[in-house]
Formats: sequence, C-alpha cells, structure tokens
Amino acid sequence: MSDPSRPETPQPGRQRSYWLREALADEADPSPLPPPTDDAAYDVIVVGGGYTGMWTAYFLTETDPSIRVAILEQDICGGGPSGRNGGFLHGWWDQLPLLEELHGPDGAMEVAHAADESVEGTQAFCERHGVDAWFRRGGYLRVSASTAQDGDGDDAVEACRRLGASDQLVELSPAEVQARCASPAFRGGVLMPNAATIQPARLARGLRRVLLERGVAIHEGTRATAFAVNGAVTVRAGKVSLTADQAVLAVNAWTAGWPRHRSALVAWGSYMILTDPAPEALRQIGWTGGEAITDSRFTVHYFRTTPEGRVAFGAGVGAAGFGGRIGPSFERDSHAVERAVAGLRRLLPDLADVPVTEAWGGPIDVSSDRLPIIGRTHGGRVHHAYGYSGNGVGPAHLAGRILAARIARTDDEVGRLPIADRRVRRFPPEPLRYVGARIVREALIRRDEVSDAGQRPGWIVRLLVRLPRLLGYRLGPHPSAARD
Ligand SMILES: Cc1cc2nc3c(=O)[nH]c(=O)nc-3n(C[C@H](O)[C@H](O)[C@H](O)COP(=O)(O)OP(=O)(O)OC[C@H]3O[C@@H](n4cnc5c(N)ncnc54)[C@H](O)[C@@H]3O)c2cc1C
Repeated sequence: MSDPSRPETPQPGRQRSYWLREALADEADPSPLPPPTDDAAYDVIVVGGGYTGMWTAYFLTETDPSIRVAILEQDICGGGPSGRNGGFLHGWWDQLPLLEELHGPDGAMEVAHAADESVEGTQAFCERHGVDAWFRRGGYLRVSASTAQDGDGDDAVEACRRLGASDQLVELSPAEVQARCASPAFRGGVLMPNAATIQPARLARGLRRVLLERGVAIHEGTRATAFAVNGAVTVRAGKVSLTADQAVLAVNAWTAGWPRHRSALVAWGSYMILTDPAPEALRQIGWTGGEAITDSRFTVHYFRTTPEGRVAFGAGVGAAGFGGRIGPSFERDSHAVERAVAGLRRLLPDLADVPVTEAWGGPIDVSSDRLPIIGRTHGGRVHHAYGYSGNGVGPAHLAGRILAARIARTDDEVGRLPIADRRVRRFPPEPLRYVGARIVREALIRRDEVSDAGQRPGWIVRLLVRLPRLLGYRLGPHPSAARD
C-alpha cells in the first residue's frame, strides 16, 4: 500500500474530473444552460444529461428532426459519470456466457452484435459531427495479474468460439501480453480487438453540442423530482411543470432514489487517477498500441493511455451508498484513491517515478446481474435505462437506440432485443441493502488485495464474497472460480 502522506496522492472531489475540465476548456468554458422558467409541452422529456439521455435524444431527432425534445440535467451535461469515466468503449463479447444463459444462443448473439455496433456507431457520430473525442481503436485487453486470476475469461473465449464469433475475443499467451504492455504482474490475457478508448467528457459535450444544433431544449442546473401520468406525462422541475407524451428516466446511479426502481440497484464508487505525460516510459514498456487494459479482479483495475502519453488508471474500490443518496463518499474517498495508486504502482512498476497529479471518483449503478435494466413504467409512457454496472460507455449508446426505437415506435429491430423488459432480481430494501452491500463490498476488496499478494483469503472473506451467488444474484466470483 502506498504511503498516503506522499505528495503524489492527490485529493479527489476538489474540482471536476480532468476529462471534463479539459473538454470544457476546449469549449472556452461555456455557461450552463438556464433552467426552464415557464410550463411547457414537448413530445419527449428526458431526465438526465449523460450518455443515456443524450443518445436517446440523438436517435429520436435522427428519426424525426421535427420532434420536440427537452433534457433536464441537475448539473451540466456530462457532469455525471459520462464525463468522468475511463473511456473504455467496447461491446459485450466478454459477457457472452451470461447473455447465453439469459437469452439462449441466438438471442445472445443478437444482443452481442448490437452492443458491438456501438463502437462503430460512436466513431461514426464523432466523424460525422466533427467531435474530437480522441477515438482510438486499440482493443480491450483483460489480463490475469495473479495466479488467482488465471483462466478468467476462458468461458467467454469458449462461448465466442462455439457461437461463431471466435475473432471477437482472442486468447493471448503471457509473451503476447508482455509484447503489448510489459509488466512483471501480467500473465496471460484475452483481447477484444474491436474496442476503443475515448476522452469521455469530449463525447458527452459533443453530444450536447449536436443536440443544441438540432433544436433540443437543454436545461441545466435543473433537477426533476417526480413524474405524474394523467393522459400525458408531467415532470416537476422546481416550480415549473413540463408535460410530454413520453418521458425518459436516464439518471444512472441516481435511479436508486426513484420510486419503482429503488431496489433494482446498489450504487458503489469507482475512482480514477491520472499521471503526468510519460510517453518515453510507455515506449519502454511497449504500451504504444492504445490498448484499454483491465486486470481480472472483481474490484477491477482499469487503465489506458492518452494521446499525450498520460496513464489514466481506475479502481472499482469505492464504498457502497445508502438508498438513493449519491453523497460525498462517491467523490471524496481519499482511501479509494490510495488504493488506486497502490494498484498502479503494483501493475506498472516501471512507471514508479511518474507523478500522479489528478484524482476523481463517481458512482457505479450495479444491477443484480451487472447488465443494464431497460424498460418502461407508467403504462408505457416513462422509459428507463440504468444498471450498467461500470460498463456503460458502449451500452448507453445501445440503450439510446433501443429507447428511441420504442418511443418513436419505429420497426427498427433493435427495439425488440431481448435485453429490454427482462425480469431482474431485486435487492432487499434499506437498510438491509446498504448493510449487505457494504459488508460484501469490503470482503470483495479484501479478497482481491489478499489474492494480489499471492495469499488465500480467510474463510470469512471467502464465505462473504460467495453470499450474493448463494442468494441468487449474479454478482461476485463465479462458483466455479478456482481462485478461492
Ligand atoms: C470512475 C468511473 C469510471 C468508469 N469507467 C467506465 C469505462 O471505462 N467504460 C465504461 O463503459 N463505463 C465506465 N463507467 C460507467 C459509465 O460512466 C456509465 O455507465 C455511463 O456514463 C452511464 O451514462 P448515463 O447517462 O446512464 O449516466 P450519467 O452519466 O450518470 O448521467 C446521469 C445524469 O443524470 C443526472 N441526474 C440525476 N438525477 C437527476 C434528476 N433528478 N434530475 C435531473 N438530472 C439528474 C446526473 O447529474 C447525471 O448527469 C465508469 C464510471 C465511473 C464513475
């Protein structure tokens, strides 16, 4: 564990993420768009100005340029995780075994192909609209970084092979992994070649710009508090009531505070750090191909490079939240930042002299099987998508396509994908949810840290990390995991 008193550990939560500050500076620091002052009527009101809300508005205006859409965002568009994530953009080939379990082989392949289209879809959007989101297709490499992680991903490689998608997920030998990024910790790995990295906030802000050009009404600093359905949908925002034929709830981890959805997710924190530029050090370890890399911990480490040769390194090690409250623990957890720094130093020791200069965090919306929950309530008038479980850059694009097709009632088959409207296991009510999530979360972090040190976790930790699976949730280590 690194020494917290070292000046290299920046404090999170004091300013916006590096990504968002960089993107806003590129726009010459625009003012937020004002809240609505009068009641108004629209065809569709979207609550939440992240990728889900903005992609939905984008595809709606693509289908019907005259449609009247409003977006209500409590902060600024891209102020949430869409403007501060790792920028890993990839499909669900690594989720094929789970997709097959849920939807059968044909349904799984349909969903996986649709998810994969989000990589090309995002690239095409950027090219068409002149959005420089630093799109780079370097593949997604998932490595084993301890004996306990060996073999993770084998089932997905096997499922891809069996279902005719063997080129989508490729097994790499330890030597092949080292050739892409040399680290004494790395062993074998699997590569998803069709994956990219982006500067996440530039994508979010680019979407916002394009939506404004298309005449979408965007209100920032505007918190929506309730939906009422009485013929039309009414959305309360301060003293103003806005009405529409249909509405979209696109508020990610904040969904846990909304009636009907409270028990569908738990929120926990993920934290990122960023180094100074170090292109020479990256050349020395051979990490010049732009790969997005993760290890295979449950509380995953994820890392990628930037065009300047910085390393952005994330760790899913923040605490669980209570109810729908997205409070300071999601942005100011300096202990989580220390854990991220320790992960960086362990996995990339050749960068030991490169200073870490930035840190930030945000909430992850975890569903009971780690796939998003896409559906509708209020007699079909209020649509929702959330529960990306820390993997929403590509999937929010897919969700936007699905929601737009369902709202506009087009015959686009994406609107009929089985990933929407599935039955999802609920978590217990509060305070049980918080207590359970907190205990299991700490056990998962402990188990990953002990395994990284080459030791076997104690029996209490081993039991606690298996608890979610024993209770029927698809969370935590798979029962077949050899590591425990
Ligand atoms: C540190 C971190 C790293 C991540 N890394 C990756 C990664 O590398 N790859 C990946 O695929 N995913 C990653 N994710 C997850 C990814 O960022 C999200 O899944 C994705 O951004 C979800 O988009 P969204 O639009 O649904 O949510 P958000 O971006 O959270 O947008 C929801 C918006 O709703 C607003 N809102 C909430 N309540 C209200 C209200 N009542 N009224 C009005 N507005 C409201 C919020 O302010 C927010 O802007 C990461 C997340 C974090 C936190």
